[in-house]
Amino acid sequence: MEQLIIILAVVVVVVGGGGTTLLVRTRRRVPRAPDRTEVQGGTTAAPGAAGTAAPYLAEGGSAPPDLTATPAAPPAPAVEKPPPSAGRLVRLRGRLARSQSALGGVLLGLLARDRLDEETWDEIEEALITADMGVTPARQLVEELRTEVKVAGTRDAEEVSSLLRAQLLVQVGVDLDRSLHTERHGDRPAVVLVVGVNGTGKTSVCGKLARALIGDGHSVLLGAADTFRAAAADQLQTWGERVGAEVVRSDRGGADPASVAFDAVNQGIERGVDVVIVDTAGRLHTKAGLMDELGKIKRVISRHATVDEVLLVLDATTGQNGLRQARVFAEVVDVTGIVLTKLDGTAKGGIVVAVQRELGVPVKLVGLGEGLDDLAPFEPEAFVDAIVGG
Ligand code: GDP
Repeated sequence: MEQLIIILAVVVVVVGGGGTTLLVRTRRRVPRAPDRTEVQGGTTAAPGAAGTAAPYLAEGGSAPPDLTATPAAPPAPAVEKPPPSAGRLVRLRGRLARSQSALGGVLLGLLARDRLDEETWDEIEEALITADMGVTPARQLVEELRTEVKVAGTRDAEEVSSLLRAQLLVQVGVDLDRSLHTERHGDRPAVVLVVGVNGTGKTSVCGKLARALIGDGHSVLLGAADTFRAAAADQLQTWGERVGAEVVRSDRGGADPASVAFDAVNQGIERGVDVVIVDTAGRLHTKAGLMDELGKIKRVISRHATVDEVLLVLDATTGQNGLRQARVFAEVVDVTGIVLTKLDGTAKGGIVVAVQRELGVPVKLVGLGEGLDDLAPFEPEAFVDAIVGG
């Protein structure tokens, strides 16, 4: 895509239960600087360069290795250092869809009216519902805000804006545990299962998350358990190459996904990696079929390791449809966190509130673009600030 990639692939064949899996090691070199990209609020370097002086240094700052020679043993993957994951949402705030600040503009405009009558409050509620927040939270927010404005006895724009901000924060939830559980268990890696409908950005999330974890000092192995789509494993492998993570995949399409997941975790244990991320198939064929497939993957992994996170990937632009998908997944597997992708698109921010309420599970990560580093830990304050312009 944006860079010339030189790949050294060493393939180790591993015979696993129910089929043959391949452990694919990759190494890459990025010989040129990243493209410049226009973002809201000015020009900045392409994803991956944010906030770093020399973003595309090979790990440790050493010179790129000579890839023309055939090495006897594969050296450690060399990957440009990603920026730290903490505080990314603040840095990527310009990426949040303009619809977020448009919502804030509408709400603040309504609150600035001379008379805050019944009709105006109805309009405020309507604006929140139109932003995918859901009827109940929108009503709650309006009721609380109405009381607060009355009690404060103020119509000062700044004060009203800060009351709105506080109420939005209540709905988004400041006290939810949004941490990702990716710590090793003794000699066992942490395991993250990534589930969701195809097209939501599931495979990209696996790759971006791997990169973020690597940037935070973890070693990561990817498991291509989406064996249904022929291209899925290739796609994950490409991500592995981009981010410097090894990939365990089957050598044939249609292999048993649980067997690939099992092999991935076993390889993770053998190789002493910190985190194994397993990509799964996203067919919503039948609820029973999905339950069987994800249930089996989880059971099989649990024989050797603990599934620490089940991350459900949802496309934030799909609104109600996305919520329906979320419901089905939550019924078949214990989702521990939501990844809302494409919040840089036409998504409406209220979906954050709606989906958390629907599933009782926090949004832990948000996708804000197609670049390697466009996945950010969700931070309620930064998100609400993008709405009300804080
Ligand atoms: P999967 O089928 O669920 O594995 O989805 P993919 O990872 O293949 O992503 C589907 C498409 O969505 C790809 O074109 C991605 O580049 C794109 N995509 C994924 N996440 C984001 C995001 O946060 N923002 C934008 N704009 N595009 C995204």
